[in-house]
Parts: sequence; C-alpha cells; structure tokens
Amino acid sequence: MHLSPEDEAFRAEVRAFLAEKLTPDMREEAARSAGVWAEGPLVRRWHKILYEKGWIAPSWPAEYGGCGWGVVQKYIWDSECAAVGTPSLPAMGLQMCGPVIMRYGTPAQKEFFLPRMLSGEHYWCQGYSEPGAGSDLAALQTRAVRDGDHYVLDGSKIWTTHAHYANWIFVLARTHVDTKPQKGISFFLVDMATTGLTVRPILSTSGDHEVNQVFFDGVRIPADNLVGPENEGWTVAKYLLEFERGSGFAPRLGAMIAKVRRLAQDEPQDGERLIDDPDFRAKLASVEAQAAAIAATERRLISALSTGANPGPASSSMLKLSGTEIMQSATELALEAIGAYAAPDFTAARLGKVNWAPGPDHAIPVTARYLNNRASTIYGGSSEVQRNILAKVVLGL
Ligand SMILES: Cc1cc2nc3c(=O)[nH]c(=O)nc-3n(C[C@H](O)[C@H](O)[C@H](O)COP(=O)(O)OP(=O)(O)OC[C@H]3O[C@@H](n4cnc5c(N)ncnc54)[C@H](O)[C@@H]3O)c2cc1C
Repeated sequence: MHLSPEDEAFRAEVRAFLAEKLTPDMREEAARSAGVWAEGPLVRRWHKILYEKGWIAPSWPAEYGGCGWGVVQKYIWDSECAAVGTPSLPAMGLQMCGPVIMRYGTPAQKEFFLPRMLSGEHYWCQGYSEPGAGSDLAALQTRAVRDGDHYVLDGSKIWTTHAHYANWIFVLARTHVDTKPQKGISFFLVDMATTGLTVRPILSTSGDHEVNQVFFDGVRIPADNLVGPENEGWTVAKYLLEFERGSGFAPRLGAMIAKVRRLAQDEPQDGERLIDDPDFRAKLASVEAQAAAIAATERRLISALSTGANPGPASSSMLKLSGTEIMQSATELALEAIGAYAAPDFTAARLGKVNWAPGPDHAIPVTARYLNNRASTIYGGSSEVQRNILAKVVLGL
C-alpha cells in the first residue's frame, strides 16, 4: 500500500511505541493464547497501556475520547499490531456497545458509560444468544417486565464470551409479545453484580474457559439502562452487528500465514522440510492467494471509506465469510506442519500452569488454536447465514 509521508511517520511512531511497550512476557502470553481474545488479566494490562497512551479506541471519534484516526491510520495500526502479535482485546465494549451508546444512548448514558469503557473500568460482554436463539436471534425468550422505575429480567444467555471477566453485559430481552418476533425486543445495559445474575463456565474443546452461560433470575435493572425506545431493540441490535462482523482480517491472516511458513521450514518430518514438499507448497500458495484477495478487498474498502463512500451492507458479510474460512485453512496447515506434535495435550503448558511441555515451544498453541478457530464460522453470524445474506443482497435471489 502506498503511504503518504505523514502516514509513514505515523507507522514509525506506532512501531516505536509497540517496541517499547509490548514486553517479551506479554508477547509470549499472547502468542500462546488460542482464544479469540487474550485472557482477562492480559487484556486489562494491555488495555491500560493503550489507554494511558490515548490509543485505546482507534475507531472512536475524538469527541468521545477516541483517537480520531482516519481509515489508513487505523489499517496501519491493525497491521503493525498483527505483525508483532499484540494481545487481542475484546470487541464487545469499545467496538460493539460503544458505537451503540454513541448513536442511541441518552446524554446521561454517554457521560457515564463511554469514559468507563475507555478506561477499562467496565469490561463488557454480549448477551444476545440463547439456548433456543442463535442464528434465529429474534426467537429470544429472555423477558424484561417493567416494575416501577425498574425492569425485572428472567431468562438465560449462552456462549457469552468473557462473562467470567466482565462486570457489565448488554442484553436483548423481550418486553412485549407480538406476532412478529422482531417486535417487542429491547436493549439493556446490565451491571453483572446485580442480585440474581449468575455465570456458569462452558469449557471448549481447546481446553479454554472462554464462553459461559449467564442466568437472570429476577434481576432488577434501572429503567434508565434501557438503550433506545422500549420494544425497538431490534434496530439497535442490528446496528451493533454491523460492528461485530467488521473487517481487519488481512493483517491477522498475514501474520498467521507467516507463522505457518516458519513452522513448515523449522519442523522436520522424516528428515525433510515440509516447506519443500510440493503438495504442501501448493496448499500454502492457495491460502496465500486467497489472503491476498482479502487484503485487496480490504484496501478497496479503505479507499472507498476514505473518500466518504458507503461500501454497502455486502462488504461485512463477504469479509466475515471469507476471512474466517481462510483463517481456518491456515490453522489446518499449521496443524499439518507440526506433524505428530498435534496430538499431545499442551493445555497446562499453554496456560502457564507447568514449566515444561510435551514438545517444542513452537507447537504449544497450534492444536488449541486450530480447535478454537472452528468456532469462527459459527459466531458473529455463521457462514451459512452470511451466504444467505450475500445471496439476497448481492445476487438478489
Ligand atoms: C466461541 C463462541 C463464542 C460466542 N460468543 C457469543 C457472545 O459473546 N455473545 C452472544 O450473544 N453469542 C455468542 N456466541 C453465539 C453465536 O452467535 C451463535 O452460536 C451463532 O449465532 C449460531 O447460533 P447457534 O449456536 O444457536 O446455532 P444455530 O443457529 O442453531 O445453527 C446451527 C446450524 O444451522 C445453520 N443455520 C441456522 N439457520 C440457518 C439458515 N437460515 N440457513 C442456513 N443455515 C442455517 C447454522 O449455520 C449452523 O450451521 C458465540 C458462539 C461461539 C461458538
């Protein structure tokens, strides 16, 4: 990408900052993480460093305390972070709930929640999915019943990422039963310390505790914590999903492919280097070509955004679909590259519970990351759902 002298200077500033602040222990812990986001304590540590620098909210406007960066600066930031492997910070607060509060929140909600989101005092999680409502989110059954100046919440949310670290959750609940399921849903901000709210862990096949089930049993929420009008939460919910699907896949894909290449060069199999195997090289080249197509699409998007154009609703679905599927192919190649070391259980070593590992260091996160990444084509709208959207919006079917 051609950068202006100002953007080159910005990139140099970012590189210097990351070189100074991303300590080897943080980098090591981030490299061993298999989850979508870094573990809670590392999240808090890195969040604080970025907050103190004023760089915690690259996509927020300056008037709310964000960096006010343009799209090119944001792309440089994402690329540099991916290249050095910074801890991945949860999107639920700054990237999802923040824009919703900016758009639909009352002045009092903006004043209370946005600064605490920036500082990290509030750690957010997302209460959308329920045991019977995932892709078909409008089928949700959690109820919120008005009682004086409160609502009383009963029901359950599932797959709630980082609910065990979070102290606030945004929740979709039914405030009115209508013939059309999308009607009568409202959007609430809930303090997780409220009586009647419990969090139970769900362990994933990768060995991580990342997701949970959250139960609401007569949880009383101040009516002031309703965002947008009562019964109009579906509009708010859909606005938030535009931010969940997002972009920025290319830098992470580039970093992952570089890792696969290193593994295939370093890890001998039957005395040969895997990178010299023609079949493996062809598979790697195919993933690289697809990643290059994503990078080109993202750059086209950046260019459109920087001239004020609206890229349309298809872009986020297209990038979510292809970005996650190509990342899955890359994690599969990483698994192939470590050969027999794909089998041992590295969980204790990966989570720092023991100081030895049943194989080389570079193999530690590979299988867990492969397993964890299977979920990426399910969460944030499954691949099938994205294909449905593209069929409708792009192909007009
Ligand atoms: C690791 C992980 C983290 C998550 N984190 C959160 C979170 O923090 N907060 C939150 O609210 N939710 C979270 N989710 C939930 C996620 O959004 C849902 O899993 C997702 O929406 C799919 O819903 P479901 O699991 O109920 O599957 P279902 O909707 O039951 O889907 C089952 C299968 O049917 C397919 N399918 C469903 N409908 C259609 C259709 N119309 N056309 C074609 N195929 C279809 C799906 O693609 C899928 O393959 C998370 C999920 C995972 C796996």
